[in-house]
Amino acid sequence: MKIYVVGIGPGDSKFMTPAAKAAIEKSDVIAGYTLYVDLIKDMTCGKEIRATSMKKEVERCRMALDACLEGKTVAFVCSGDAGVYGMAGIMCQVAEEHPEVEIEVVPGITAACSGAAVLGAPLIHDFAVISLSDLLTPWEKIEKRLKLAAEADFVLVLYNPKSKKRVMHLDRAVELVGMSRDMNTPCGYVKNIGREGERGTVCTLAELSGNDDIDMFTTVFIGNSQTEVINGRLVTPRGYRDV
Ligand code: SAH
Repeated sequence: MKIYVVGIGPGDSKFMTPAAKAAIEKSDVIAGYTLYVDLIKDMTCGKEIRATSMKKEVERCRMALDACLEGKTVAFVCSGDAGVYGMAGIMCQVAEEHPEVEIEVVPGITAACSGAAVLGAPLIHDFAVISLSDLLTPWEKIEKRLKLAAEADFVLVLYNPKSKKRVMHLDRAVELVGMSRDMNTPCGYVKNIGREGERGTVCTLAELSGNDDIDMFTTVFIGNSQTEVINGRLVTPRGYRDV
């Protein structure tokens, strides 16, 4: 009995690992959020689909577990990497009472990496990934992480920068980062990475604030004190460079 928790990458199948493709091929049931199951529909022909749109994450894991307990091999798909704000952890927790169920986590390209490639090379050196979603993390903790990571001069990657309900979080994040970083710091954001309508934009820290172009399908990059724009590309030097 096996559940693969599969990171399918940002969208386009060319960014999916051969191991992720193999796990999907070997599975009888494809489970997950409707949007992600749709992204891989070319590969799921003839397989049983158990996709949900509105259900909570725990319920989605239970659904995958139930399919597995029926004796089926299940691919539980997540966008990007399965362990970065993905379902791998919750799946292990939900299946705790069923040690007979083997859980294999299959990694994928996370939005920080696929988005960075669109913008140039903003990560290169030390960086911190922070989600602005306060659904599972208290907002005070997110503020503290933003403040301290900015002070420590990490390049920052912001996931879940905005949703219909959370419109002010990004503006507040810019304000907090701006306490220790120049408002002209080179930044960027990428929408719909590896999907239709992919677009990368290079801008300044100030321009991230009040930006209506940024939504929940966007990943935001905030440069550190060394980050520069080279021929339109966002680049953070390695630190030891002296050219
Ligand atoms: N497991 C995913 C992250 C899920 S959290 C991963 O590793 O990439 C959801 C957030 O990830 C989105 O709000 C957005 O900030 C980012 N994201 C995921 N896929 C994206 C894509 N294709 N384009 C842009 N941002 C994306």
